[in-house]
Amino acid sequence: MASRDGKIVKRRAAAANRGKGCDTTMKFFLLLLSIATIAARAEDRTAFDFNARLGGGVNLGNWLEPPTEGGWGTKVTAEDFRTIAKAGFKHVRIPIRWSAHADKAAPFTMDSAWFARTDFAVSQALSNHLAVVLNMHDYDEILKDPATHRERYLALWKQIAEHYRALPDSAAFELLNEPNSKLDATNWNIFAAAALKVVRESNPQRIVVIGPTQWNSFDKLEALKLPEDDRRIVVTFHYYLPFHFTHQGADWAGSESKSWLGTKWTGSEKEMGDVRRDFDKAAAWGKAHDRPIYLGEFGAYSKGEMESRARWTRAIRDEAKARSFATAYWEFSSGFGVYDTQAHAWREPLLNALLGK
Ligand code: BGC
Repeated sequence: MASRDGKIVKRRAAAANRGKGCDTTMKFFLLLLSIATIAARAEDRTAFDFNARLGGGVNLGNWLEPPTEGGWGTKVTAEDFRTIAKAGFKHVRIPIRWSAHADKAAPFTMDSAWFARTDFAVSQALSNHLAVVLNMHDYDEILKDPATHRERYLALWKQIAEHYRALPDSAAFELLNEPNSKLDATNWNIFAAAALKVVRESNPQRIVVIGPTQWNSFDKLEALKLPEDDRRIVVTFHYYLPFHFTHQGADWAGSESKSWLGTKWTGSEKEMGDVRRDFDKAAAWGKAHDRPIYLGEFGAYSKGEMESRARWTRAIRDEAKARSFATAYWEFSSGFGVYDTQAHAWREPLLNALLGK
Protein backbone atom coordinates (compact mmCIF):
# COMPACT_ATOMS: atom_id res chain seq x y z
CA MET A 1 0.00 0.00 0.00
CA ALA A 2 2.76 2.42 0.96
CA SER A 3 4.74 1.86 -2.26
CA ARG A 4 1.61 2.11 -4.42
CA ASP A 5 0.80 5.49 -2.84
CA GLY A 6 4.39 6.54 -3.42
CA LYS A 7 4.21 5.67 -7.13
CA ILE A 8 1.00 7.64 -7.62
CA VAL A 9 2.57 10.64 -5.93
CA LYS A 10 5.70 10.39 -8.09
CA ARG A 11 3.70 10.06 -11.33
CA ARG A 12 1.55 13.05 -10.45
CA ALA A 13 4.63 15.03 -9.57
CA ALA A 14 6.30 14.20 -12.90
CA ALA A 15 3.18 15.25 -14.83
CA ALA A 16 3.01 18.51 -12.93
CA ASN A 17 6.65 19.29 -13.57
CA ARG A 18 5.90 19.32 -17.30
CA GLY A 19 3.64 22.34 -16.82
CA LYS A 20 4.86 25.86 -16.18
CA GLY A 21 4.42 27.83 -12.95
CA CYS A 22 2.79 24.92 -11.13
CA ASP A 23 5.63 24.42 -8.66
CA THR A 24 4.12 26.06 -5.59
CA THR A 25 0.66 24.61 -6.13
CA MET A 26 2.12 21.19 -6.71
CA LYS A 27 4.30 21.36 -3.63
CA PHE A 28 1.25 22.26 -1.58
CA PHE A 29 -0.73 19.46 -3.19
CA LEU A 30 2.05 16.98 -2.47
CA LEU A 31 2.20 18.15 1.11
CA LEU A 32 -1.54 17.63 1.50
CA LEU A 33 -1.25 14.19 -0.06
CA SER A 34 1.52 13.15 2.29
CA ILE A 35 -0.40 14.45 5.32
CA ALA A 36 -3.44 12.48 4.17
CA THR A 37 -1.31 9.37 3.67
CA ILE A 38 0.22 9.68 7.14
CA ALA A 39 -3.22 10.28 8.65
CA ALA A 40 -4.61 7.25 6.83
CA ARG A 41 -1.78 5.11 8.15
CA ALA A 42 -2.35 6.33 11.70
CA GLU A 43 -6.00 5.37 11.37
CA ASP A 44 -5.03 1.98 10.00
CA ARG A 45 -3.11 1.24 13.19
CA THR A 46 -5.66 -0.61 15.25
CA ALA A 47 -6.08 -0.85 19.00
CA PHE A 48 -4.48 -4.30 18.64
CA ASP A 49 -1.43 -2.72 16.96
CA PHE A 50 -1.21 -0.17 19.75
CA ASN A 51 -1.42 -2.89 22.40
CA ALA A 52 1.33 -4.88 20.68
CA ARG A 53 3.43 -1.74 20.64
CA LEU A 54 2.94 -1.25 24.40
CA GLY A 55 4.63 -4.62 24.94
CA GLY A 56 6.21 -4.68 28.40
CA GLY A 57 6.22 -1.44 30.37
CA VAL A 58 6.41 -0.04 33.83
CA ASN A 59 4.17 2.18 35.96
CA LEU A 60 5.69 5.40 37.24
CA GLY A 61 3.71 4.91 40.45
CA ASN A 62 3.67 7.28 43.44
CA TRP A 63 5.34 10.13 41.53
CA LEU A 64 2.51 12.36 40.22
CA GLU A 65 -0.02 10.69 42.53
CA PRO A 66 0.22 12.40 45.94
CA PRO A 67 -1.84 15.54 46.51
CA THR A 68 1.47 17.44 46.26
CA GLU A 69 4.28 16.15 44.05
CA GLY A 70 7.03 14.59 46.15
CA GLY A 71 4.63 13.98 49.05
CA TRP A 72 5.22 10.24 48.99
CA GLY A 73 8.97 10.51 48.52
CA THR A 74 9.08 9.33 44.91
CA LYS A 75 10.68 11.39 42.14
CA VAL A 76 11.22 10.40 38.52
CA THR A 77 13.92 12.25 36.59
CA ALA A 78 14.88 12.64 32.94
CA GLU A 79 17.70 10.20 33.64
CA ASP A 80 15.17 7.63 34.88
CA PHE A 81 13.28 7.75 31.57
CA ARG A 82 16.54 7.08 29.73
CA THR A 83 17.30 4.19 32.11
CA ILE A 84 13.84 2.66 31.55
CA ALA A 85 14.13 2.84 27.76
CA LYS A 86 17.70 1.57 27.77
CA ALA A 87 16.73 -1.48 29.84
CA GLY A 88 14.26 -2.51 27.09
CA PHE A 89 10.85 -1.41 28.37
CA LYS A 90 8.54 -0.23 25.61
CA HIS A 91 6.17 2.05 27.46
CA VAL A 92 5.38 3.85 30.69
CA ARG A 93 1.99 4.11 32.35
CA ILE A 94 1.80 7.39 34.23
CA PRO A 95 -0.65 7.52 37.14
CA ILE A 96 -1.65 11.16 37.72
CA ARG A 97 -3.86 12.76 40.37
CA TRP A 98 -5.36 15.37 38.01
CA SER A 99 -8.22 15.94 40.47
CA ALA A 100 -5.87 17.60 42.99
CA HIS A 101 -4.81 20.26 40.49
CA ALA A 102 -8.07 21.71 39.20
CA ASP A 103 -10.57 24.15 40.65
CA LYS A 104 -13.28 22.66 42.83
CA ALA A 105 -15.96 24.82 41.19
CA ALA A 106 -17.08 25.05 37.56
CA PRO A 107 -15.49 25.36 35.06
CA PHE A 108 -12.96 23.26 37.06
CA THR A 109 -9.92 24.87 35.43
CA MET A 110 -6.73 22.81 35.56
CA ASP A 111 -3.68 24.49 37.02
CA SER A 112 -1.34 25.33 34.14
CA ALA A 113 1.70 24.68 36.34
CA TRP A 114 0.43 21.12 36.72
CA PHE A 115 0.17 20.71 32.96
CA ALA A 116 3.82 21.78 32.82
CA ARG A 117 4.69 18.82 35.06
CA THR A 118 2.64 16.30 33.08
CA ASP A 119 4.10 17.76 29.86
CA PHE A 120 7.54 17.01 31.25
CA ALA A 121 6.55 13.38 31.84
CA VAL A 122 5.01 12.98 28.39
CA SER A 123 7.87 14.62 26.53
CA GLN A 124 10.45 12.55 28.41
CA ALA A 125 8.62 9.35 27.51
CA LEU A 126 8.19 10.23 23.85
CA SER A 127 11.72 11.53 23.35
CA ASN A 128 12.97 8.19 24.70
CA HIS A 129 10.73 6.34 22.22
CA LEU A 130 8.53 5.01 24.99
CA ALA A 131 4.80 4.78 24.30
CA VAL A 132 2.80 6.40 27.06
CA VAL A 133 -0.48 5.71 28.86
CA LEU A 134 -1.73 8.83 30.66
CA ASN A 135 -3.91 7.59 33.46
CA MET A 136 -6.36 9.40 35.71
CA HIS A 137 -5.42 7.98 39.13
CA ASP A 138 -6.43 8.64 42.74
CA TYR A 139 -9.70 10.48 42.03
CA ASP A 140 -10.96 8.99 45.32
CA GLU A 141 -13.85 11.44 45.74
CA ILE A 142 -15.63 10.19 42.62
CA LEU A 143 -15.65 6.64 43.98
CA LYS A 144 -17.59 7.71 47.05
CA ASP A 145 -19.94 10.15 45.37
CA PRO A 146 -20.10 9.72 41.59
CA ALA A 147 -23.11 11.99 40.99
CA THR A 148 -21.50 15.02 42.65
CA HIS A 149 -18.24 14.57 40.74
CA ARG A 150 -19.64 13.70 37.31
CA GLU A 151 -19.47 17.19 35.84
CA ARG A 152 -15.98 17.81 37.22
CA TYR A 153 -14.72 14.45 35.97
CA LEU A 154 -15.91 15.21 32.45
CA ALA A 155 -14.48 18.75 32.62
CA LEU A 156 -11.08 17.33 33.61
CA TRP A 157 -11.12 14.99 30.63
CA LYS A 158 -12.18 17.76 28.29
CA GLN A 159 -9.15 19.83 29.34
CA ILE A 160 -6.68 16.92 29.34
CA ALA A 161 -7.88 15.71 25.94
CA GLU A 162 -7.72 19.18 24.39
CA HIS A 163 -4.31 19.87 25.89
CA TYR A 164 -2.94 16.61 24.47
CA ARG A 165 -4.87 16.47 21.20
CA ALA A 166 -1.69 16.76 19.07
CA LEU A 167 0.25 13.94 20.73
CA PRO A 168 1.42 11.18 18.39
CA ASP A 169 -0.44 7.90 18.22
CA SER A 170 2.02 6.31 20.66
CA ALA A 171 0.13 8.06 23.49
CA ALA A 172 -3.13 6.81 25.00
CA PHE A 173 -5.52 8.10 27.66
CA GLU A 174 -6.82 5.87 30.47
CA LEU A 175 -10.17 7.08 31.78
CA LEU A 176 -9.92 6.08 35.46
CA ASN A 177 -7.79 3.83 37.62
CA GLU A 178 -9.61 1.01 39.39
CA PRO A 179 -13.25 2.15 39.58
CA ASN A 180 -14.82 0.65 42.72
CA SER A 181 -17.23 1.35 45.58
CA LYS A 182 -20.18 3.55 44.39
CA LEU A 183 -18.72 3.63 40.92
CA ASP A 184 -20.19 0.18 40.31
CA ALA A 185 -20.74 -1.44 36.94
CA THR A 186 -24.02 0.35 36.25
CA ASN A 187 -22.57 3.77 37.04
CA TRP A 188 -19.17 3.15 35.53
CA ASN A 189 -20.54 2.05 32.14
CA ILE A 190 -22.41 5.37 31.93
CA PHE A 191 -19.48 7.48 33.19
CA ALA A 192 -16.94 5.81 30.91
CA ALA A 193 -19.18 6.27 27.85
CA ALA A 194 -19.66 9.96 28.73
CA ALA A 195 -15.92 10.53 29.25
CA LEU A 196 -15.15 8.74 26.00
CA LYS A 197 -17.56 11.02 24.17
CA VAL A 198 -15.81 14.07 25.62
CA VAL A 199 -12.38 12.72 24.62
CA ARG A 200 -13.58 11.90 21.09
CA GLU A 201 -14.55 15.56 20.47
CA SER A 202 -10.87 16.53 20.35
CA ASN A 203 -9.21 13.12 19.86
CA PRO A 204 -11.25 11.10 17.37
CA GLN A 205 -8.44 8.59 16.79
CA ARG A 206 -6.75 8.45 20.20
CA ILE A 207 -6.47 5.01 21.80
CA VAL A 208 -8.42 5.05 25.07
CA VAL A 209 -7.85 2.51 27.84
CA ILE A 210 -10.84 1.40 29.92
CA GLY A 211 -11.06 -1.24 32.64
CA PRO A 212 -13.83 -2.93 34.61
CA THR A 213 -14.97 -2.18 38.17
CA GLN A 214 -13.88 -3.82 41.43
CA TRP A 215 -10.39 -2.35 41.09
CA ASN A 216 -10.12 -3.40 37.44
CA SER A 217 -10.83 -7.03 38.22
CA PHE A 218 -10.90 -9.59 35.38
CA ASP A 219 -13.94 -11.01 37.16
CA LYS A 220 -15.92 -7.87 36.31
CA LEU A 221 -15.16 -7.84 32.59
CA GLU A 222 -18.54 -9.39 31.86
CA ALA A 223 -20.25 -6.35 33.38
CA LEU A 224 -18.21 -3.86 31.34
CA LYS A 225 -20.28 -2.44 28.48
CA LEU A 226 -18.38 -0.38 25.91
CA PRO A 227 -19.69 1.61 22.94
CA GLU A 228 -19.71 -1.11 20.24
CA ASP A 229 -18.83 1.17 17.34
CA ASP A 230 -15.71 2.60 19.01
CA ARG A 231 -12.91 0.21 18.09
CA ARG A 232 -10.06 2.41 19.34
CA ILE A 233 -10.28 1.06 22.88
CA VAL A 234 -7.84 -1.13 24.80
CA VAL A 235 -9.33 -2.97 27.77
CA THR A 236 -7.28 -3.20 30.94
CA PHE A 237 -7.30 -5.31 34.09
CA HIS A 238 -5.04 -5.46 37.17
CA TYR A 239 -3.74 -8.61 38.81
CA TYR A 240 -2.47 -8.91 42.39
CA LEU A 241 -3.45 -12.50 43.24
CA PRO A 242 -2.90 -14.22 45.57
CA PHE A 243 -3.46 -10.95 47.45
CA HIS A 244 -1.99 -12.29 50.73
CA PHE A 245 1.23 -12.90 48.86
CA THR A 246 1.46 -9.68 46.77
CA HIS A 247 0.27 -7.36 49.56
CA GLN A 248 1.97 -8.90 52.59
CA GLY A 249 2.92 -6.13 55.00
CA ALA A 250 1.21 -3.43 52.88
CA ASP A 251 -0.40 -1.11 55.44
CA TRP A 252 -2.98 0.28 52.97
CA ALA A 253 -4.31 -3.27 52.57
CA GLY A 254 -5.37 -3.33 56.25
CA SER A 255 -3.68 -4.12 59.54
CA GLU A 256 -4.10 -7.88 59.01
CA SER A 257 -1.62 -7.64 56.11
CA LYS A 258 1.11 -7.97 58.77
CA SER A 259 -0.06 -11.49 59.48
CA TRP A 260 0.53 -12.41 55.83
CA LEU A 261 4.27 -11.69 56.11
CA GLY A 262 6.35 -14.69 55.14
CA THR A 263 3.87 -15.90 52.50
CA LYS A 264 5.78 -17.51 49.63
CA TRP A 265 4.85 -18.21 46.05
CA THR A 266 6.44 -21.36 44.70
CA GLY A 267 4.80 -21.66 41.30
CA SER A 268 3.15 -24.94 42.28
CA GLU A 269 0.68 -26.62 39.95
CA LYS A 270 -2.21 -25.16 41.95
CA GLU A 271 -0.71 -21.64 41.94
CA MET A 272 0.02 -21.72 38.21
CA GLY A 273 -3.40 -23.23 37.55
CA ASP A 274 -5.07 -20.29 39.30
CA VAL A 275 -3.16 -17.74 37.22
CA ARG A 276 -3.89 -19.59 33.97
CA ARG A 277 -7.59 -19.92 34.77
CA ASP A 278 -7.88 -16.18 35.52
CA PHE A 279 -5.89 -15.12 32.47
CA ASP A 280 -7.84 -17.51 30.23
CA LYS A 281 -10.99 -15.83 31.44
CA ALA A 282 -9.67 -12.37 30.51
CA ALA A 283 -8.41 -13.64 27.16
CA ALA A 284 -11.74 -15.31 26.36
CA TRP A 285 -13.58 -12.07 27.10
CA GLY A 286 -11.17 -10.17 24.84
CA LYS A 287 -11.72 -12.67 22.05
CA ALA A 288 -15.49 -12.69 22.39
CA HIS A 289 -15.63 -8.88 22.31
CA ASP A 290 -12.75 -8.36 19.85
CA ARG A 291 -10.85 -6.10 22.26
CA PRO A 292 -7.08 -6.12 23.00
CA ILE A 293 -6.18 -6.74 26.65
CA TYR A 294 -3.67 -4.76 28.71
CA LEU A 295 -2.53 -5.98 32.12
CA GLY A 296 -1.93 -2.42 33.35
CA GLU A 297 -0.79 -3.30 36.90
CA PHE A 298 0.74 -6.33 38.56
CA GLY A 299 3.41 -6.55 41.22
CA ALA A 300 4.41 -7.98 44.58
CA TYR A 301 5.27 -5.64 47.46
CA SER A 302 8.83 -5.39 48.77
CA LYS A 303 8.02 -6.97 52.17
CA GLY A 304 7.87 -10.41 50.51
CA GLU A 305 11.02 -12.45 49.84
CA MET A 306 12.71 -11.60 46.56
CA GLU A 307 12.88 -15.17 45.28
CA SER A 308 9.10 -15.58 45.42
CA ARG A 309 8.48 -12.08 44.05
CA ALA A 310 10.72 -12.70 41.04
CA ARG A 311 9.17 -16.13 40.41
CA TRP A 312 5.64 -14.71 40.54
CA THR A 313 6.56 -11.71 38.39
CA ARG A 314 8.09 -13.96 35.73
CA ALA A 315 5.09 -16.29 35.74
CA ILE A 316 2.63 -13.40 35.38
CA ARG A 317 4.66 -11.76 32.62
CA ASP A 318 5.03 -15.04 30.72
CA GLU A 319 1.36 -16.03 31.00
CA ALA A 320 0.32 -12.52 29.91
CA LYS A 321 2.68 -12.55 26.95
CA ALA A 322 1.44 -16.00 25.90
CA ARG A 323 -2.04 -14.48 25.56
CA SER A 324 -0.83 -11.29 23.78
CA PHE A 325 -1.68 -9.06 26.73
CA ALA A 326 0.47 -5.92 26.98
CA THR A 327 1.82 -5.49 30.51
CA ALA A 328 2.94 -2.76 32.92
CA TYR A 329 4.66 -3.67 36.17
CA TRP A 330 3.57 -1.86 39.34
CA GLU A 331 5.93 -0.02 39.80
CA PHE A 332 9.24 1.57 38.87
CA SER A 333 10.91 2.87 42.03
CA SER A 334 8.67 2.87 45.07
CA GLY A 335 7.38 0.11 47.38
CA PHE A 336 7.21 -2.55 44.65
CA GLY A 337 10.18 -1.03 42.83
CA VAL A 338 11.98 -2.86 40.09
CA TYR A 339 14.55 -0.04 40.33
CA ASP A 340 16.49 1.06 43.39
CA THR A 341 16.94 4.84 43.17
CA GLN A 342 19.31 4.95 46.17
CA ALA A 343 21.70 2.50 44.56
CA HIS A 344 20.93 3.72 41.00
CA ALA A 345 20.53 0.09 40.05
CA TRP A 346 17.88 -2.32 38.79
CA ARG A 347 16.76 -5.08 41.10
CA GLU A 348 18.06 -7.72 38.73
CA PRO A 349 15.79 -10.66 39.66
CA LEU A 350 12.70 -8.51 39.00
CA LEU A 351 14.12 -6.85 35.91
CA ASN A 352 15.10 -10.17 34.37
CA ALA A 353 11.66 -11.59 35.15
CA LEU A 354 9.98 -8.64 33.43
CA LEU A 355 12.22 -8.76 30.38
CA GLY A 356 12.03 -12.55 30.11
CA LYS A 357 15.79 -12.96 30.54
C1 BGC B 1 -2.79 2.01 43.73
C2 BGC B 1 -1.56 2.06 44.57
C3 BGC B 1 -1.22 0.69 45.13
C4 BGC B 1 -1.23 -0.34 44.04
C5 BGC B 1 -1.06 -1.72 44.62
C6 BGC B 1 -2.55 1.02 42.66
O1 BGC B 1 -3.57 1.06 41.71
O2 BGC B 1 -3.04 3.27 43.19
O3 BGC B 1 -1.71 2.99 45.61
O4 BGC B 1 0.04 0.70 45.71
O5 BGC B 1 -2.40 -0.27 43.25
O6 BGC B 1 -1.95 -1.93 45.66
